[in-house]
Amino acid sequence: PGAAQADIGVTGLAVMGANLARNLARNGYVTAVHNRTDAKTKQLISEHGDEGTFVPSESTADFVASLKKPRTVIIMVKAGEPTDAVIDEVTPLLDEGDILVDGGNALFTDTIRREKALRDRGIHFVGTGISGGEEGALNGPSIMPGGSDESYATLGPILAKISAKVPEGDPDGEACSTHIGTDGAGHFVKMVHNGIEYADMQLIGEAYDLMRRGLGLSTDRIAEIFREWNTGDLDSFLIEITAKVLAHKDPKTGKALVDMIVDAAGMKGTGTWTVQNALDLAVPASGIAEAVFARGLSAQRELRDAAAELPGPDGKIDVSDVDDFVADIKQALYAAKIVAYAQGWELIAAGAEKYGWDIDLASVARIWRGGCIIRAAFLGRLADAYQQADATGEVPKSLLLLPYFTEALGKAQESWRFAVAQAVFAGIPVPGFAAALAYYDALRSPRLPAALIQAQRDYFGAHTYHRTDADPDASFHTLWSG
Ligand code: NAP
Repeated sequence: PGAAQADIGVTGLAVMGANLARNLARNGYVTAVHNRTDAKTKQLISEHGDEGTFVPSESTADFVASLKKPRTVIIMVKAGEPTDAVIDEVTPLLDEGDILVDGGNALFTDTIRREKALRDRGIHFVGTGISGGEEGALNGPSIMPGGSDESYATLGPILAKISAKVPEGDPDGEACSTHIGTDGAGHFVKMVHNGIEYADMQLIGEAYDLMRRGLGLSTDRIAEIFREWNTGDLDSFLIEITAKVLAHKDPKTGKALVDMIVDAAGMKGTGTWTVQNALDLAVPASGIAEAVFARGLSAQRELRDAAAELPGPDGKIDVSDVDDFVADIKQALYAAKIVAYAQGWELIAAGAEKYGWDIDLASVARIWRGGCIIRAAFLGRLADAYQQADATGEVPKSLLLLPYFTEALGKAQESWRFAVAQAVFAGIPVPGFAAALAYYDALRSPRLPAALIQAQRDYFGAHTYHRTDADPDASFHTLWSG
């Protein structure tokens, strides 16, 4: 290690960190690199050292010393305790005004705690959501930084440079990176992104199940249908890869590979966090919740085996016109997707309110148009519709009330209901489609059975109720059994 020469440093060189470091170096930044286990640093330099200027260090002290001041350090290690361990190791070596970025999938409340602790020492801690997996980290992810305005002035242009662009691959395109808000705002929004990703994947899974098990279509035919859907309203990365996955053959058996994969979904926790926070904030994010529950249920192998003979229909759907029903499924998928996004949006707005973040919801949609897993043409329309409403000062309480989406939901009505009804009759679980529809209908209902719930609560717990014909603040109690 010689003089302080690096523009930026990355510590933690597993797949995400190594690719992010390469992305930085390829974009002309002199990039300091470090990893707890030095072999990973050596491997990065030997395999990719010619892609730009790297400054490798074996020790954390040398790594920090190799950075120009004020220093910018990105931590890309396992979320949770490892992140705290690295922060504790790096921080004593930093000076006031230095910027410490956590690019891992931290829980936003950890980020709030860390930001506060480091702010007291004059260090800018920037919890940053990064989406796009390893491919995104290398070629341009969607980036959601939190932290102070001051740190963003330095960091913003770097993140914009290495982020995905819209249109894709156009270096002069719009950058998929924006300052989300202070302290934990970036990680909160990344968390909701992942929750929405769960919902998107679940809805696609339900559409597939209806076509495969319900209609008995081949994987090749369904791949073709998804390819076609990818050219319209549903145009998105997840629909695109679904078509590719379904068309992929297993070299060992010659069957569709998806048929050889165990049907137990894994998860790493960000979906669960989203639902936990939705519950805490009393936001009915049922689309995301159902997606998390569905993954959990799929992994309950023993229970599923024990329950396999429970009575019910056999999953076959008999419709007069298969193509018409496929079109219905498409509408149901689109409508349920709109609802899931509306719920996610409401959750971001509720988080912003509770934690004091000034989050521009249109920009969130814009930076998700590229780089991230939920990237979709849909998000451009969402951003436009939102911005239009904002310009006229009439931002509705729900995305569902933006005219663009109200119209789409109106068009989907019959198909959405028919698809859910057919699924119910056939015994195919569609928790995502159905929960979205229930949410939609609950919002529309002039009166809900909550009146009865209030009466029950008052009956057994004297919890009181409000009357439709009295001052809304006046409470009433009835001696029900008397
Ligand atoms: P990872 O498997 O989550 O973490 C491995 C890295 O953490 C290694 O560099 C490891 O160092 C380091 N590490 C673990 N414990 C440590 C400790 N106590 N002290 C110092 N270093 C420690 O790696 P990843 O998949 O590349 O993900 C990195 C971060 O990005 C995570 O927070 C992850 O959630 C987030 N993320 C991942 C993806 C994805 O698609 N994989 C997408 C978005 C965000 P050693 O080599 O020494 O073990």
